[in-house]
Amino acid sequence: MTLAQVQQPLVFIVSGPSGSGKSTLVLKMLEVAGTMFSISCTTRPPRPTESAGKWYDFVSEAEFERMAAHGEFLEYAQVFGKHWYGTPRRWLDEAQRKGLDLVLEIDVQGAEQVKKKLPNAVAIFILPPAREELERRLRTRDQDPEEAIQRRLNRAQQEMQRYMEYDFLVVNDDVERAGREVQAITVAARCLRSCLSERARKILESFGG
Ligand code: 5GP
Repeated sequence: MTLAQVQQPLVFIVSGPSGSGKSTLVLKMLEVAGTMFSISCTTRPPRPTESAGKWYDFVSEAEFERMAAHGEFLEYAQVFGKHWYGTPRRWLDEAQRKGLDLVLEIDVQGAEQVKKKLPNAVAIFILPPAREELERRLRTRDQDPEEAIQRRLNRAQQEMQRYMEYDFLVVNDDVERAGREVQAITVAARCLRSCLSERARKILESFGG
């Protein structure tokens, strides 16, 4: 592994089915100093509670296609066979410039692409406490029509089969405990040898390593 590779910002991937509570856990990770969120672009229309530029940049299909054609995405995918979602590369550049770790909340297709490009990325999969609980959460959220809920449930079934591709599994049955777990993963990952920090590198160099 070259030095240039290890000095990339640490990238965290957080995936899990809709209703697993991953957004809440991402917020817990962002409470850890030195992290920043990767705002995805999507062609999905905003929900009434969503404002632009917080979780998503809402773009037209034409704009999304333009960005994809210009190689502006680190990864992108069509989620639920409907709307497009993508991670702009510029967040990676910004994280590098600012010396921050980048947190991506993306689906399993995106996670696979990022892991191929950045093998040191740390991938966390959020598990709902039970299948019935996931369904209950999706229904009580009451923000999507029945057809969308069914689509999310079918997709959850497929996504859950791919947990083996992730480094960490966090069960979100108790948000406080799960929050502590994702924060612990964030902190621990910084000590991984493969993520060699500037500080550790200098010490090793002084020993001729
Ligand atoms: P929602 O429409 O409910 O906000 O998100 C639907 C799914 O898209 C979620 O599983 C979410 O993690 C995923 N997603 C959000 N942003 C991205 C992205 O930039 N890339 C990919 N591949 N998936 C994303």
